[in-house]
Amino acid sequence: MVKSTPSVDVAVIGAGPYGLSLAAHLRARGVEHRIFGELMGSWKHNMPPGMLLKSYPWASNLSDPGSEFALKTFCTERALPYFDQLMPLPLSRFIEYGEAFQKRYVPAVERKTLMALEPSAGCFRATFDDGEIVHARRVVMAVGLHSFKRLPHQAAHLPTDLFSHSGDFGSLEPLDGKEIIVVGSGSSASDLAALLYERGVSVSLVVRRSQLEFAGQPRPRTLFERTTAPMSGIGNGWTLAACAKYPQLIRLLSKDLRVRLANIKALGPLGGAFMKDRVIGRVPVWLGRALQSTEACDGKVLLDLIDASGARHSMRADHVIFATGYKVDVARLGFLNPTLLRQIRLVEGAPQLSAHYETSVPGLHFIGPASANSFGPVCRFVYGTYHPARHLAGHLAAVLARFQPAPRVRPLDRTVMP
Ligand SMILES: Cc1cc2nc3c(=O)[nH]c(=O)nc-3n(C[C@H](O)[C@H](O)[C@H](O)COP(=O)(O)OP(=O)(O)OC[C@H]3O[C@@H](n4cnc5c(N)ncnc54)[C@H](O)[C@@H]3O)c2cc1C
Repeated sequence: MVKSTPSVDVAVIGAGPYGLSLAAHLRARGVEHRIFGELMGSWKHNMPPGMLLKSYPWASNLSDPGSEFALKTFCTERALPYFDQLMPLPLSRFIEYGEAFQKRYVPAVERKTLMALEPSAGCFRATFDDGEIVHARRVVMAVGLHSFKRLPHQAAHLPTDLFSHSGDFGSLEPLDGKEIIVVGSGSSASDLAALLYERGVSVSLVVRRSQLEFAGQPRPRTLFERTTAPMSGIGNGWTLAACAKYPQLIRLLSKDLRVRLANIKALGPLGGAFMKDRVIGRVPVWLGRALQSTEACDGKVLLDLIDASGARHSMRADHVIFATGYKVDVARLGFLNPTLLRQIRLVEGAPQLSAHYETSVPGLHFIGPASANSFGPVCRFVYGTYHPARHLAGHLAAVLARFQPAPRVRPLDRTVMP
């Protein structure tokens, strides 16, 4: 049922770190907007409880207009332990921080799901799951990664109860008592393997690479290290430092270079620094085994694997979890109307964006991981929220001000007598 058709200047879709940060800046600038989505939804439902953040606490701040509410401030105000670099930050603490940020800066998050977005007479018509239709001059997509889960083609024919993606788990309870194989070599794979093992679940980790790599434990760095490979919000080294600091310059590089930087090898696949001891020597790890095919057999899943010598191995489990990452592909955003989708110019599946995070469809913007092919790898991290929040909020404030009608002076306004 159609509830109403109000209009708004800016609709922000997504209430994770990127959507919240942008909304905080829009509010501070007096830009009329609404923000939709579940508050920190991906962090609550698509990451396993007990996970530790991979980013340093100092690099896990949401962006507020006065740069006043960093994670450190949040922890200090509540007398919670905080060490800039040496603390593994639990997922639950980061969610609490996001919720506190929302209460302070973005009071009006609307928990609704966008079902359809279409062009409509110079603006956008957005239909939500409760039936409400909103007309917006500008739409900013901050929908994160969840729609872009990557699964191997070998899983396509398996019954859905036999396999899942690492992003399908908020709680790990449904896996209790099962025999599980996790496939993958990145942080999601090692996190899930360790957390399942610690719950008493029978779990093995299957890795295509010949080694399982983990980030180094944080430690004080020498002057030489700091000079030759400076630390940045997304990793160490001059290239990452430049990407973290100057996303607007990355956009000016050639397409090939930008895409290469967005997927830069230095960023993984890599297990989290604090997970190494919780995996190695505890979880059975099968290295150098590439997936050839899968088969369902008597309610179990059979994996056919091949090693570097060409030898075949068969593994059986109740359930396999593919921790095989994400690949941005806007065509998978089911709410995008086909006409709109056809008009969005793409760079390897991701939208090609202007300096104002705008797609080739005027008024439609993307921020967060979907903008990495234009603005570089910093957009894949919470650390990157600062740039679109400041820059896009400023841009929207400027362009939308042009649309505001000049205030009309009514006679009564001029002569209000006591
Ligand atoms: C397992 C895992 C661990 C990670 N760990 C780290 C880390 O330690 N440090 C780090 O910096 N980054 C980490 N990342 C990357 C992190 O996901 C991104 O940095 C960050 O979440 C991007 O924020 P976002 O606001 O763009 O998206 P998200 O946080 O994913 O938020 C998406 C929002 O969009 C909403 N949404 C989606 N679809 C719709 C719709 N149709 N209608 C309405 N709302 C919708 C959701 O409800 C949610 O509110 C990790 C990613 C994964 C998968």
